[in-house]
Amino acid sequence: MTTIRVGHLYPEYLNIYADRGNIAVLARRAAWRGHELRVTAISVDDALVPGEHDLYYVGGGQDREQLLVAADLVRKADALHEAVAGGAAVLAVCGGYQLLGRGYRGLHGEEMPGIALLPLETVAGERRLIGDALVECELEPGRRRTLAGFENHAGRTRLDPGAEPLGRVLAGFGNDGESGFEGCRAGRVIGTYLHGPLLPRNPWLADRLLSLALAHRLGGEPPELAPLPDELERLAHEVAAARARARGGRS
Ligand code: GLN
Repeated sequence: MTTIRVGHLYPEYLNIYADRGNIAVLARRAAWRGHELRVTAISVDDALVPGEHDLYYVGGGQDREQLLVAADLVRKADALHEAVAGGAAVLAVCGGYQLLGRGYRGLHGEEMPGIALLPLETVAGERRLIGDALVECELEPGRRRTLAGFENHAGRTRLDPGAEPLGRVLAGFGNDGESGFEGCRAGRVIGTYLHGPLLPRNPWLADRLLSLALAHRLGGEPPELAPLPDELERLAHEVAAARARARGGRS
């Protein structure tokens, strides 16, 4: 049994659409493989010590909550960069994703600094981008899979040239409703606009994150995890994917 250490950033502020459900999925899927997930909250004024966690998780939030944590996250920026350089993985959703870029300008002009862990910038637009979304990803060469989720954001995220999106939008808006890109990834850092929560409907991504976290914990390459039946998960994915497909293109 391995203990996988998760640092959950700002759980009391960034938990829109029950994003903490993602943690529950990681914990169950780890337990089914005989591993334990130890989750520690890292909030405002708490120290983030590089090397102490295998996976960091940041959920989504409204502009107001993002404002409450943005300056604190900047104070943790060096430590988080060091943790990532040491091989820790990160999953950030929506509001958390925006703050991993260089910055986010909210709807009323609030400038929120980001920590530049991902090569992108975000500016809020008038119209919110809301609805079910379906995204095609290829995180490992030759293994194409879809992510189904729900998005609701004012932010338009622009990736820097050459930055790698998490995937391509099949239905929904994605980063900005124009580029056809959704999310961003750089090494073991993944950012996405998809809630739902994200992982219950997309167990393959949960397993990918667990595998990256285990690689950090144990050293070496990310291990292949024992497959699980995933009947309900497949159905949940299909229902969400069908809803997104019914909605159609990008508007
Ligand atoms: N406040 C951000 C926006 O509207 C993020 C919203 C969210 O996390 N759902 O773009």
